[in-house]
Amino acid sequence: MKIIDAHIHFCPEKDSFRVLAEQAGHEYTAEHLRAEFRRLGITCAVVMGNRAPGTDMADYPDFLRYCVGLDRGWEQLEEQRLAELVEQHLRRPDCAGIKLYPGYSHRYVGDRRYAPLYELAAQYDKPVAIHTGATAGGMGLLKYAHPLTVDEAAAQFPQTRFVMCHFGNPWLTDAAAVMEKNENVFADLSGLLEGRVELDALFRENEGYFSLLRTWMGYAGGYEKLMYGTDWPLVNLEQYIAFAARLVPERWHDRVFYENAKRVYSL
Ligand SMILES: [Zn+2]
Repeated sequence: MKIIDAHIHFCPEKDSFRVLAEQAGHEYTAEHLRAEFRRLGITCAVVMGNRAPGTDMADYPDFLRYCVGLDRGWEQLEEQRLAELVEQHLRRPDCAGIKLYPGYSHRYVGDRRYAPLYELAAQYDKPVAIHTGATAGGMGLLKYAHPLTVDEAAAQFPQTRFVMCHFGNPWLTDAAAVMEKNENVFADLSGLLEGRVELDALFRENEGYFSLLRTWMGYAGGYEKLMYGTDWPLVNLEQYIAFAARLVPERWHDRVFYENAKRVYSL
């Protein structure tokens, strides 16, 4: 099976990521990632940028694509300058889109500072990926990360493709409703696990949750728009494939593991 991982992080200067990689049974190096991708049939992955547009040198290994991230260090940029910097990235063939972190930036998806970027994304035919759902640590605020906030931006910018990262988990119903209503909204399945787990026990002990997850994933054509992604280095790559393969009905594997991401991120 050919796989695209539509959501990883690669930021070697972050020690915290190295620790997470080791806990998940990996090394946090490009060589290790390349070897693992080859072994597991992963042909490409999209890095969700954790720098700011002005500081991201986009020096990612050649087998990766990236979304230019508005994580930290962009707030003080003047509007025109921010748009210029983002556009410089969007012009690059290895830049696959834009990544926003509204829950951590304490802004709604419909914030006026984001609006010019939605127009740019449409102009370059590249999607805007948005962290939706639970936030890690005390600094994230859930009200900004709720999947329902994507609805208004999706309606206002019909030419822009939006990706709800983490399928809005645990607001699965809301994420499914937003995706069903808006043709231009997609979602990835990254970050639903953390570290290494025992899959049989996990499914047994969380039967109700996984039943809900399956219900809303498949709601109203959901598998046409869901993309496999891991959130590596948070999870073990091999285990996450087994996890997603168990959740997604087999007849949709090609679409979810490969075709949908190829289409949405133009890979
Ligand atoms: Zn992530």
